[in-house]
Amino acid sequence: MKPNQNLITLEEALQSTRRECCDRFRKHVNPEEARLLKLVNIDKRYTKAEGVMLYDDEGNTLLDFTAGYGALNLGHNPPEVLEAVRNASSLPAVLLAGYNPLMGALASNLSMLLPGELDVSSFGSGGAEAVEIALKTARASTGRKRFISCNNGYHGLSFGALSVSGSAKYREALGPLMEKCDAIPFGDLDALEDKLKREDVAAFVVEPVQGEGGAVVPPKGYLKAAEEACHKHGTLLILDEIQTGLGRTGELFAMEHEGVVPDIVTLSKSLGSGVVPISVSVTTEEIWRKAYGSRDRFDLAISTFGGNPRACAAALKTIEVMLRDRLWERAADLGEYARKRLDRFSSDLKHVKSVRGQGLLLGVELDPPKVPGANMDENLGAMIISRLANNYGILTAYYDLAPTVLRFEPPLTATKEQIDKALDAFDAVLGKGTMGLTLGFMKSVIGRAVRPP
Ligand code: PLP
Repeated sequence: MKPNQNLITLEEALQSTRRECCDRFRKHVNPEEARLLKLVNIDKRYTKAEGVMLYDDEGNTLLDFTAGYGALNLGHNPPEVLEAVRNASSLPAVLLAGYNPLMGALASNLSMLLPGELDVSSFGSGGAEAVEIALKTARASTGRKRFISCNNGYHGLSFGALSVSGSAKYREALGPLMEKCDAIPFGDLDALEDKLKREDVAAFVVEPVQGEGGAVVPPKGYLKAAEEACHKHGTLLILDEIQTGLGRTGELFAMEHEGVVPDIVTLSKSLGSGVVPISVSVTTEEIWRKAYGSRDRFDLAISTFGGNPRACAAALKTIEVMLRDRLWERAADLGEYARKRLDRFSSDLKHVKSVRGQGLLLGVELDPPKVPGANMDENLGAMIISRLANNYGILTAYYDLAPTVLRFEPPLTATKEQIDKALDAFDAVLGKGTMGLTLGFMKSVIGRAVRPP
């Protein structure tokens, strides 16, 4: 240990000030992210989170319209899920040489909820891990090597997941990625057929609605036709429902909008309500057996923490609450309500180009002005996010691969009043001219800079 330094205790960490949090994050975690959060003046020190509400140490409350990028469909800290985790806390926290009684129960429930013969679950902790399992399952069961995925798709940041994600900026930074991965335009069936006819494609990996690509809904009938095309050519369909899953788009799973039955589905994010990380890749028994059904292969999709008892307890309770409260119906109703007003923005408001998405996975596409020498795509989004948070108490963000698309992605438990409050705020901020926004942005940044420590 370095001399003359004391470790920070948990109690001290819980009491740390905004300044201490920022400094430590900047120095020891991610300096560039810290710079960005500070610039936008959303480097806040939250002391409590409950449902849609965030509370900071300066007495401000914000409505969280980012919902953990889809991980908080039940809102922050749902009490029943917290209690479920406490109830499981006397079980062995990790036990690899033996059964975890909750894992089989969760897998059995998933098989009941999912369509077709999606009966066998392999658990991980994060979304990218589930995608890795899905890719491995497809290669190992088909004996084929190639993957097809979509431009602008997002499946996570591990090497396999990145290899099927459609973002040039990540690929350039980290390439070469996995070989034999081709990207095609989302929604383009001819391009898919063209790739599939080589009969060497293990799987087509696709989100039912592109989340981080900016809430992009494919043309009607696309997913069903993609399923049929895949089956015609012996290719597996992997649906990544990590962000769309569990109610977000207005059905429990987005695949249900068109009655699509994939060969493999990945879930994560809201499955554990953000209380305990959990992810899963679910496939048919036939595919699982082909991939892993032997003594030397059965452990190819196992990880130490994947599906541990606390994670499974969180997921079992999340599913129970989701079904009891029929939250997908709430997502559909509130989504339609919000959409009606948001749609008007695109004709009435200065900075809005389009509004898109499904259920409560919505995006407001901005129309940034051209300013020589400035990256207005990101700057306009940053200005608006700063204004929404600091002047109107609405926390939003832009989608990871689409800096011109603002998230409108609240927990599915949001009330109509909370949705209205956010819509009023978007209306007020997006209606301003660029000059008004710039001045407001400068004021909030300068205000932050001169605020006493
Ligand atoms: N797949 C989809 C559709 C996602 O939206 C995400 C994350 O946003 C991932 C995979 C990766 O999940 P994680 O960040 O937990 O690895």
